[in-house]
Amino acid sequence: MGRNVEVNGSKVRVVSLKPSDMTSKKCNVSVHLKHKLNDKERRLSGVMCHSWSCSRCVPYMRKNWLAHLDTKMREGEVVSGRMTAPKPIYILSTNKRRWETIGKRVYRAGGEFATVEQPDSSLIIFTNVDVGGESVPSLSLGATLKAVIDSCATGRKPIRTSAGWRRNVAEDEKHRSNYTLINLLRVPVGRAVDEVRQHGVNDVREWESKSRFGADYAVPEQWGWPQVSELDNDLAELEE
Ligand SMILES: [Zn+2]
Repeated sequence: MGRNVEVNGSKVRVVSLKPSDMTSKKCNVSVHLKHKLNDKERRLSGVMCHSWSCSRCVPYMRKNWLAHLDTKMREGEVVSGRMTAPKPIYILSTNKRRWETIGKRVYRAGGEFATVEQPDSSLIIFTNVDVGGESVPSLSLGATLKAVIDSCATGRKPIRTSAGWRRNVAEDEKHRSNYTLINLLRVPVGRAVDEVRQHGVNDVREWESKSRFGADYAVPEQWGWPQVSELDNDLAELEE
């Protein structure tokens, strides 16, 4: 069930993924929002649990980690006020015991690392310290990083990093919103969108961002408050 990914002519083995069928309770809810400047612009947004054991969140976790590590590995350092070129990245496939030894060398050299656990418990290491393994210019790293993250183990946290490459979820989530809360819904976004469509709203735009998914819709121009509050109430009463 393994698959090889080519890194500068040599191969790093990645193992194909077993999809998790667990979905957290937290991911079965969504929020109903309205635009601060225009009551008729509404938004339904999924609430995510960011768990590696949640089938709904795992694709977003992969995407977010890829974007995060790709950026970190391409960053240069500021030395005497000037940005240096990014260091080459070394990739090696190893196991947890060997990583204990290799990891100490990375620490001693003041380097950064990310370890990505695969479903067979092997670790794929990315580091900017030469500890053997394949050296890849950080600019051409993207495809390899994606293959390794796409195949990583799920269930418990598969990606660990040094402090400099750590991902701050709170920071990713931080965004200034133009929307204010109408209410919390007890159903996932998809079910709420069906309800909105059943009320005869055609202008529904589904979207997906780095860390969220949802749908925006506009209340039809000809609607008065009775129709709007009927929709709001029906959404609030949905249950799975
Ligand atoms: Zn989730």
